[in-house]
Order: sequence, then structure tokens, then C-alpha cells
Amino acid sequence: MKIPVAGLVKRVSGTGDFISLDADKCTQCGRCIISCVMQLWKKTGDRIGLIKDYQSKCLECGACYQVCDADAIRFRYPQGGTGIIYERG
Ligand code: SF4
Ligand code: SF4
Repeated sequence: MKIPVAGLVKRVSGTGDFISLDADKCTQCGRCIISCVMQLWKKTGDRIGLIKDYQSKCLECGACYQVCDADAIRFRYPQGGTGIIYERG
């Protein structure tokens, strides 16, 4: 289930890429797909990847990074005050 976050967060543009995948390390286990509550990871054919505009939808929770036993996902928080701002919680 996709989590409805409209009204709960604000976003500051300009993050650039802050999550990347090393396809050579990826075992296609699918754990990133299952763990992402925003459904930003997809399997297309035999390739795993993020959707194109993941930067504007990502919660920066790091779950995909945490569950990847193959160490195939690189995650860093966006720099310079860009990215998500939680309004509550
Ligand atoms: S969790 Fe890691 S190894 Fe598994 S499909 Fe995602 S990127 Fe590939
Ligand atoms: S950091 Fe969280 S919301 Fe962003 S792609 Fe990974 S699991 Fe999905």
C-alpha cells in the first residue's frame, strides 16, 4: 500500500541523485521493492531500478538501503537543505 503523505511533508527541490544502485551487485531479491512504502522501486524485465522521479516522492527513510544484503544500494541524505521536510512527527 502506498502511503499518502500529501499535507504531511514539504519538499525542497534540488536534491540531485541521492540513491543509486550497483547493478553488478544486485541479486534481484526484490527486498527493496517490498520495503519501499512509496513504491519507488520497480522490476523491469531482469532489471531492478528506481522510478525516474523518485527524488520528488522518496521519504528518505533508508529502508531500501537497510534491507539490501547485497550492498547494492547507495543512500545518502540530500545536501544543502534540499529534500523532504516532515511537518509532523
Ligand atoms: S534489495 Fe538489493 S539486491 Fe535485492 S533487488 Fe534490491 S537492490 Fe537488488
Ligand atoms: S529511502 Fe525509503 S522511500 Fe526512499 S526509495 Fe528507499 S525505501 Fe523508498
